[in-house]
Amino acid sequence: MGLEEKLPNGILLVSVEKLVNWTRKSSLWPATFGLACCAIEMMTTGGPRYDLARFGMEVFRASPRQADLMIVAGRVTNKMAPVLRQIYDQMPEPRWVLAMGVCASSGGMFNNYAVVQGVDHVVPVDMYLPGCPPRPEMLMDAILKIHAKIMDEPLGAVRAKALADSGHRTDLIPSSERFAR
Ligand code: SF4
Repeated sequence: MGLEEKLPNGILLVSVEKLVNWTRKSSLWPATFGLACCAIEMMTTGGPRYDLARFGMEVFRASPRQADLMIVAGRVTNKMAPVLRQIYDQMPEPRWVLAMGVCASSGGMFNNYAVVQGVDHVVPVDMYLPGCPPRPEMLMDAILKIHAKIMDEPLGAVRAKALADSGHRTDLIPSSERFAR
């Protein structure tokens, strides 16, 4: 007879890792900012019709200190890139980044001197969402895929991710340029 069968009803066995990951994915709070037209769809997703509150994440936080999900909704200009990176740096670990739409993912149609050709040049991206703009259903699907990713993350990976992020920052945005404008 297995251990579970010996236990009375109402007792649940779970690993600490799964429990921590479950609490994290059940209360993902996005940072409040939108960069372009994709942000309109992001705001719609937070409204009553699509009811993002079902996933414990209706609270878009105005302070990056209280946010753990960055939804990059729209194109990122070179001028905005250091600001976006600063917001990312202010978010506590563990944190996740979703590139919403083709502009955030690759620059989209804006292949010019003013626009960053993919936000992964500035911050590490956990999920890319195609579309111009992606519909709210697509954004929710991407969020659920991030939930699944969080559930599979080993606890020790957070530290490794933080180290990788700091390497990313050093390589791509020299500190002398970060507050240049
Ligand atoms: Fe606007 Fe389309 Fe770019 Fe989104 S992907 S920011 S909707 S142009």
